[in-house]
Amino acid sequence: MIVTAHQKRTIYILWLLIVPMTFYIALNYYPSAPYNYMNLAIYMAILLATLMTTISMDNFSITLERWVIFSLFFQYGIVAEMIFMQIATLFLLFSHKSSTPKAFRFAVNSIEAVIVSLISAAIFYALGGSLEQMSLGSFLLAGFIFATIYSLLNSAVLFVIFKWVKAGTSVMKKVIWWDYVSTILLLPFAITFCLLMQQFGSKAFLLIGVPFLIVLLVASNYMKSNKLNEVLSSSTVIGHQLADRLRVEDVFHTFIDKIKDVIPYESAYVVDLRMGENLVMLAHKEGEIQSGETNKFSYPQKKSEGDGLDVEVTKLFLNKKSLGSFIGYTFDPSVECVMTAPIKRNQKTEAFLILTSNQRYAFEEMHVKIVDLLTGYFATAVEKARYYERTVEQSVRCGLTGLYNFRYLESKLDEEVIRYHTDEIATLSTIILDIDHFKSINDTYGHQSGNDLLCTFAALLRSYQTSEMTLARYGGEEFVMILPDYEKDEAVGLAEMIRKEVEETNFKIIPDLSEDREPTIVNMTVSVGVATMPMDAKDGKELLRNADRALYIGGKQAGRNRVGIYIEEKENVVS
Ligand code: GH3
Ligand code: MG
Ligand code: MG
Repeated sequence: MIVTAHQKRTIYILWLLIVPMTFYIALNYYPSAPYNYMNLAIYMAILLATLMTTISMDNFSITLERWVIFSLFFQYGIVAEMIFMQIATLFLLFSHKSSTPKAFRFAVNSIEAVIVSLISAAIFYALGGSLEQMSLGSFLLAGFIFATIYSLLNSAVLFVIFKWVKAGTSVMKKVIWWDYVSTILLLPFAITFCLLMQQFGSKAFLLIGVPFLIVLLVASNYMKSNKLNEVLSSSTVIGHQLADRLRVEDVFHTFIDKIKDVIPYESAYVVDLRMGENLVMLAHKEGEIQSGETNKFSYPQKKSEGDGLDVEVTKLFLNKKSLGSFIGYTFDPSVECVMTAPIKRNQKTEAFLILTSNQRYAFEEMHVKIVDLLTGYFATAVEKARYYERTVEQSVRCGLTGLYNFRYLESKLDEEVIRYHTDEIATLSTIILDIDHFKSINDTYGHQSGNDLLCTFAALLRSYQTSEMTLARYGGEEFVMILPDYEKDEAVGLAEMIRKEVEETNFKIIPDLSEDREPTIVNMTVSVGVATMPMDAKDGKELLRNADRALYIGGKQAGRNRVGIYIEEKENVVS
């Protein structure tokens, strides 16, 4: 809730006008019974114990102090009740975290409490309620109306204040409903407690106070563990979703997106820790933005010890002051609290998850458990996806040269032919290159040197590679280039450039047959064939076959070290 300075001032002035005045009226115009300080001490103890136990609902929490407050009112009158309510308000200020300034919260709740008390008490007495002995029937009736007015008035005052500071009132309906139901359910306890106190004095505490507190504690823990179970089972679902992702990139995005289902963050960052010290951003999400530079978080290039980013355990930084423990990391001024979690693989921290929120105390201890679980799932999913990507990559590459293999070439060629047929590209050219007399190179220098030459040759071809072309090893000492959107003369020009460079290059090898193994210069040449869709072929297979024919007839047969161009059954030679 964001409160303006003007609103703060108004509330403080209202507090000064209303609270002392209501106390004055209560003291002078409302009945009160003589105080038994032992009893009051018992009331206070039960009140504080009740306030400490919170019942959490979906998105709000309630405390059940009204059963003590009502009993106190029935027994001692409104002044005692009002004083206890002010103490309860003060207590809740510190035990319930909120981003609204404390003084403002206190003033609002304090005003609300005295107004509600004064009006509901007046109605209670008007209906025949009294501090003297009453018949149970009239006690129940006056009590019921008192409780109803008390709860509804309370909600009404809160609603007006929420509207005034323009805070969201979406959960209001639910809160009003719960407030009323719990108040009415607590009323019999309050009446019983009051009657027992009147009858047995402070010992009544054992009859109803202790059992009530025990049940409350059990219910609260039950609800907490219910909530935790719910979140944990959502986390398991996220774990499965992560395990289903095959691409590392998908794992990152799923991880960052899905955490939001269980932890309310504003921005999330996954920062890699390389070589134990270099920090690199792997993925992030700021609000709804998931790409580009990070705007709300900056970090050093190298991690240093004691910089606030803990490598061992997940840490919560719940308010602005605690963010001061980060050295070299800067968060947007809107960030109020931060959670950092190491992402470990084999007990070693490999990365960090950093979550931020614009609300103070947005993260809880429960979130730490969930984050630890999720980072574990994440680390395993990333490892699996990396392994998968590597395997896919290896299955399409030639182990010797690192170029694509024939299997990949075939499927890529099919894709390019489809692109041609769907008019994405206008032409599709292919170049096949075959090293001349490679067998004799092998025979002269040895198979290993032949391999080295193939690798050097592959590197030479790679220097011509552009992002759109595909370069593959066709088999043996034959290589292929697929050139989408290359006109035939462009492909021939490229083929000729390569042929010429190979002819002029002194390839260095270390012969593995001779004894001395001195580096030796080898010169070799290459014959090339070119064919282009649509003029030379209808499909991918025919395109390759005709490029091969051009290579054989226009290249090899014509004397080698030449570029053969396919022209409808008549191959031509350009050099
Ligand atoms: P040309 O193409 O000029 O007609 O003669 P060539 O000797 O290059 O042709 P051929 O097809 O007869 O021989 C190809 C040779 O390439 C046979 C084989 O020894 C060699 N070769 C094929 N694959 C590899 C390889 O992976 N490593 C090595 N070192 N040699 C290979
Ligand atoms: Mg060959
Ligand atoms: Mg050859």
